[in-house]
Amino acid sequence: MRLDRFLTARTRLSRKEVQRLLAAGSVLVDDEVQMNTRHEVKQFTKVVVNGECLQDKKPVYIMLNKPAGYLSATKDDKHPTVMELIPEELHEGLHVAGRLDRASTGLLLLTNDGTWSRAITMPSSKITKTYLVRLRNPVSPSTQETFRNGIYFAYEDKTTLPTHFDIIEPTLVRIYLREGRYHQIKRMFFAVGNKVTSLHRESVGHHQLNDLQAGEFRLLTACDL
Ligand code: URA
Repeated sequence: MRLDRFLTARTRLSRKEVQRLLAAGSVLVDDEVQMNTRHEVKQFTKVVVNGECLQDKKPVYIMLNKPAGYLSATKDDKHPTVMELIPEELHEGLHVAGRLDRASTGLLLLTNDGTWSRAITMPSSKITKTYLVRLRNPVSPSTQETFRNGIYFAYEDKTTLPTHFDIIEPTLVRIYLREGRYHQIKRMFFAVGNKVTSLHRESVGHHQLNDLQAGEFRLLTACDL
């Protein structure tokens, strides 16, 4: 948003008064005097007017190892949510970037940075996510090819992107997904007559759980992003 519009929206000042403030050098943006009315104010831009701080939000990026039973949501009346695993002082504006089902475990990203979460979850981003999937029945030899061709989901009228997996044991596979439809992995295996009994996300793009234990989280730094 333009600086002059941001200031009129955040104060009771008129456009003229805002222009005067800016011309007088009374507005600091990221600790420097800013006189340009069109200067872009973003979600994490610090803005101070005559010593009063109007906005100073710090970006927060979190990797959590979600245990089973927690909802990937910020609020719920019935079930515990992943927010309960994160200290309250980090909650403001926090949201999940790419959900996991309640019974699923593993890597979950949370942030207060809408631009970052959109970049990760947008269908066009095609970031690879890896999951360890336990199946009720041994994976059949034809499944690899069926997944490579894509599976048609009538509800969305969409065919899944080509997907492949490594067979670790007859009933355990590591699958590589580049999209994130509702219950996607469960529905894909259901379509070939199998059933997912547990699902654990190991990575999202270059983010890996490594030795993070179930229920633990760590703050990501700018170097991690
Ligand atoms: N696919 C699913 O079916 N469930 C998840 O939690 C993630 C991917």
